[in-house]
Amino acid sequence: MRDGKRALGVLFLGILFLLGNQGRAEGATYHEVQAGENLWVISRRYGVALRTLLELNGLSEQSILQPGMKILIEGERDAQSGNLLYEVKQGDTPWGIAREFQIPVRLLLEANNLTEKSILRVGQKLVIPLSSDGRPKTSERASTQGVAQVQVHIVRQGDSLWRISRQYGVDMKSLMKANGLTETSILQVGMRLVIPKETGRTAVASSSSATSWETYTVKKGDTLWSISRRFGVPLKELLQANGLRETSVLQIGQALRVPSRGGVSSAPQRAQRGFIWPVNGRISSGFGPRGRGFHYGVDIIAPAGTVVRAAESGMVSYSGWMSGYGRVVIITHASGLQTVYAHNSVNLVREGQRVNKGDPIARVGSTGNATCPHLHFEVRRNGRPVDPLEFLRR
Ligand SMILES: [Zn+2]
Repeated sequence: MRDGKRALGVLFLGILFLLGNQGRAEGATYHEVQAGENLWVISRRYGVALRTLLELNGLSEQSILQPGMKILIEGERDAQSGNLLYEVKQGDTPWGIAREFQIPVRLLLEANNLTEKSILRVGQKLVIPLSSDGRPKTSERASTQGVAQVQVHIVRQGDSLWRISRQYGVDMKSLMKANGLTETSILQVGMRLVIPKETGRTAVASSSSATSWETYTVKKGDTLWSISRRFGVPLKELLQANGLRETSVLQIGQALRVPSRGGVSSAPQRAQRGFIWPVNGRISSGFGPRGRGFHYGVDIIAPAGTVVRAAESGMVSYSGWMSGYGRVVIITHASGLQTVYAHNSVNLVREGQRVNKGDPIARVGSTGNATCPHLHFEVRRNGRPVDPLEFLRR
């Protein structure tokens, strides 16, 4: 638990720094970018939605920040409570907003007297339960018990859910539940995770199960994907451990840190990782360049009428018709992931509906731009399509 104490110490210093740095200036507030900061970190620090930061500064998620850059910050706060206010925009769901501010959706719902089924109105102002230091506020019940119940971990380079669960001696399931995450959730450096209190059960000893690292030297023909497969390490962990992105180019001879797990075996967890196949069938067209364009998903051949199942639990963020896609369902999952199911003959779910992994959501068809019945399946991470085969178990 020594690591945990050190992390808390760092967190405490971080809060002092934030309190000293934040201040409520009149008019526009600017933040001067420090070395190593990214937009996520800044959005969290000021309690401003990432999207708002991007809009205000004309940036995209891929924009590179240079130290010394001035970033315009705007965070409208409720005059009385000091809580951040967020104006609901077209297409927003409680799930999506909670994700954007990296707070558990439960806290958002509680703070606004909403339920998961509540419909948001465009223009509605929602209270975002973030403290002035950017930490999620504890629920009222917890705060009346006096001492702060919520311990927060700030995600650092190389962290994974598994590693954090070991560091604090909490189990993965509780950690994921407390933060509205799933096994496929992507951690971002600077994200704040609520560390749930262990209830009764003995915490896992952290010393015997610490992640150890080995070094792998990149050889000709290696890809990040092939290396992750060879070592049985999820791609995202490999990327995080090495500060890489999926689009990073490997150099022959480059040394990579590869997590190797001694002690506690995480094999069962790894076997459960990933999405289920929304329908069973042959892939007739994969993700990647196709003709003069780019195919943003995979096409899975199946007879018309076959039930399409949710690849992962989440919230239906769209169910309707889209040009090209025909009848389509989009499900938003935790941590920036969305799945898209297109060309359906019929959709079986409504927007705002919660679905569990494996639930029927549509039936295969050939609506939209399709020549024969098939499912066009996409996975989007922070809005950008990525290869679905990375998420589907084989
Ligand atoms: Zn397709």
